[in-house]
Amino acid sequence: MKSQDIRKQFLEYFKSKSHSIVASAPMVIKDDPTLMFTNAGMNQFKEYFLGNTVPKNSRVTDTQKCLRVSGKHNDLEEVGHDTYHHTMFEMLGNWSFGDYFKKEAIHWAWELLTEVYKINPENLYVSVFEGSEDRDNLGLDTEALELWKEIVPEDRIIYGNKKDNFWEMGDQGPCGPCSEIHIDIRSDEEKAKVPGRDLVNMDHPLVVEIWNLVFMQYNRKANGDLEELPAKHIDTGMGFERLCMVLQDKKSNYDTDVFTPLIQEIEKITNSTYDKSDENDIAMRVISDHVRAVAFSIADGQLPSNTGAGYVIRRILRRAIRYGFTFLNTKEPFIHKLVPVLAKQMGNSFPELQSQEKLMENVIREEEASFLRTLEQGLVLLENLMKDSESKTISGEKAFELYDTFGFPIDLTSLILRENGFSLDEKGFEAELKKQKDRSRAATQVSAGDWVELAEVENEAFIGYDHLEAEVKIARYRKVDSKKKGEMYQIVLSSTPFYPEGGGQVGDKGILMSAEGEVIDVLDTKKENNLIVHFTKDLPQNPQGDFQAIVNKTERANTASNHTATHLLHQALRTVLGTHVEQKGSMVRGGYLRFDFSHFSKMTAEELEKVENFVNARIKENIALEEQRNTTYDAALEQGAIALFGEKYGDSVRAIKFGDSMELCGGTHVQNTSDIWYFKVTGESAVASGIRRIEAITGEEARKHLESQSAVLEEIKSGLKNAKDPVKAINNLQDENAALKKQIEGLLRDKAKNLKAELKAEIKNINGVNFLSKEVDLDAGGIKDLAFQLGDEMEDLYLIFGTEQNGKALLSCYISKNLVAEKEMNAGKIIRELGKFIQGGGGGQPFFATAGGKKPEGISEALKNAETFIK
Ligand code: ATP
Ligand code: MG
Repeated sequence: MKSQDIRKQFLEYFKSKSHSIVASAPMVIKDDPTLMFTNAGMNQFKEYFLGNTVPKNSRVTDTQKCLRVSGKHNDLEEVGHDTYHHTMFEMLGNWSFGDYFKKEAIHWAWELLTEVYKINPENLYVSVFEGSEDRDNLGLDTEALELWKEIVPEDRIIYGNKKDNFWEMGDQGPCGPCSEIHIDIRSDEEKAKVPGRDLVNMDHPLVVEIWNLVFMQYNRKANGDLEELPAKHIDTGMGFERLCMVLQDKKSNYDTDVFTPLIQEIEKITNSTYDKSDENDIAMRVISDHVRAVAFSIADGQLPSNTGAGYVIRRILRRAIRYGFTFLNTKEPFIHKLVPVLAKQMGNSFPELQSQEKLMENVIREEEASFLRTLEQGLVLLENLMKDSESKTISGEKAFELYDTFGFPIDLTSLILRENGFSLDEKGFEAELKKQKDRSRAATQVSAGDWVELAEVENEAFIGYDHLEAEVKIARYRKVDSKKKGEMYQIVLSSTPFYPEGGGQVGDKGILMSAEGEVIDVLDTKKENNLIVHFTKDLPQNPQGDFQAIVNKTERANTASNHTATHLLHQALRTVLGTHVEQKGSMVRGGYLRFDFSHFSKMTAEELEKVENFVNARIKENIALEEQRNTTYDAALEQGAIALFGEKYGDSVRAIKFGDSMELCGGTHVQNTSDIWYFKVTGESAVASGIRRIEAITGEEARKHLESQSAVLEEIKSGLKNAKDPVKAINNLQDENAALKKQIEGLLRDKAKNLKAELKAEIKNINGVNFLSKEVDLDAGGIKDLAFQLGDEMEDLYLIFGTEQNGKALLSCYISKNLVAEKEMNAGKIIRELGKFIQGGGGGQPFFATAGGKKPEGISEALKNAETFIK
């Protein structure tokens, strides 16, 4: 069975059990400070488990793009070395939000595996949670145990401990006991030797977990306590690539059709074969795995970068490059060439891979090229280190410098050292690394206390589209302490007019005013698992009281103006440049807007002007906002709305329309395009290969900009003696200037000619050397010309010229080449000596050298002494 059909069959099966099929959430998470990447199917449903949002469907199924490279679930070091852990993988899942529980989950899982997929039940083992005697003090999961006993013989049920059978997403959040399903795909011969149950959870590559059924019933709080969730849920996750391995009768995920096209392409490019040597094969697995992670992430809008999620992606790509560099001998960028294969292979299920193929290719190629350069430079540095080293051990400090400053990977350092008979002080390196980690941890650490709950959050908590002020209660608050910002409070209100940061738009600022008149500044507003969190420095004296929540209106109006302008700009770019333009990020705030988009060349002045004119024409047209607040994703797209990749859309979406511009957007906008007043582009630049950035201003900022520009113009005019036509006046000045320059050049040439004749007459012959030292009124270039001209006309020449220019002294020395050779006279050495008279230094070549100094009074003394150097 092809992997595509395996995926489809899973979804269809649960659809037949009344589940609705939903799309994978983006792999990069934007609204959860505790998590950078989706690491399990349940992440996108966390708010349902916590009871923050009520789901539209209580049963759903999906395949979720996951990435396990950081935090609690980090498989990076295993990837490639084993055959069944990936960085990016698909997790098939079925979900019950307060609907069915253990019984259905267990029965359906079993039925699907053994009756639909027809896996031999004798190869399957299941596990149940045995309970724990730690602070959680949880008992054996007897309910699951009894259910499994009805299905499998007892000798295939395994009792698992907390590590294996109690699933937690992270340090906090929903969790619960689980039942895992493991499969034994060893040969009969092997099975006869060691029973499969002895190998479950023992890291055996052919006895692996394929499916985890989690029974969500607790929430882990910040203080480590467990609390019962308001309702019980089912969360299951099955590794898609592992399932393919089983159903396609393979012994490794990399032998399934999910990976073979990639591996074959790597074989072709590197002229090597898979299944050759351990190192070779590991490298091929690493590269075929990592290119998926990186490509999917770029398609989701997360480019490799220097910080946060982007840095994690960059490191994954670098790991792949490194394995290629060391084990497959690839010294040129090549990983980007796998992108078309991947897009073809997975594009049906994930269309973003096809629509963004070029971008993924470009970005990866560029990253590869730059990291390969780093590797080359690092190699040179490392060679020098070894050459200069007195012992055969390279210190941890030096290795760390190479790693930290030049990005040279430590395993490569240690490999090269070993090959050259050197060793690395690994302990020293670890110590340096730890020091650095401690430093950065200390700088970013944030600790959050538990929520103090005071009131309910209303169902429609955000009322900021219609109101900028509201009577509210504090629903909950907590204290957070960050090393960077110090102590802060996070406050959730019963309902709020404050817009939480999102969709590129910054969070609102404003105040909370108590009934007693106490004023608390709201410094920022953000969304966290669908809760709207207000950041304040202080807590009101009486948090239980009534409050007036008031948004800063000017700031909000300016932001709205920039947000609407961003939509118009998007439309303008697609009209002027073409529909290949896709939004790749935006930043909308009161002062300005920033818009990143895919386009492959720098925009011309003419294109920029067209874009500006397009937007300003829409502003002039007085187009009123048409807003659809509760429509569905499909309905909006049908009407021509533009949606963004990497954005998570819920059951109901909001569409913003200004004439022909229509986008799915949660941000705040002006009521009419004329409110924007004026749109002005202030910059166009490159962000990454294939991604351009436009910066622009509107409204009040645009007015200020125009005002300051016209002030500058006034100043120019007055400088031009109030010319009526300053452009013409400046052109005239420039012409005049050019003519004068030409005239001066001619005069100087004449002067030099005369001077040359004069000087020639003054040259004296001393000991067979034609010598002259003299102060002349020429600049450095003129002196050099003169000296070389004299040199062409005369042999055995030794000249010293001095001149004073702008209060500084300059000495120049010319010596004919034959004197340099025969008498070993050296202009460089002479000028260094003479330079002392003018308090300066200099140098050059044996036949010509100069010295500059700050003591012009010393010139005559220097000239007097020149003669002493004649040999
Ligand atoms: P393992 O012990 O094998 O690492 P896990 O306990 O970490 O698995 P879960 O967190 O329960 O796995 O995830 C659910 C399912 O997702 C697993 O049963 C497995 O099939 C799959 N899975 C987990 N991690 C990976 C990975 N890194 N690559 C591919 N599939 C994975
Ligand atoms: Mg794991």
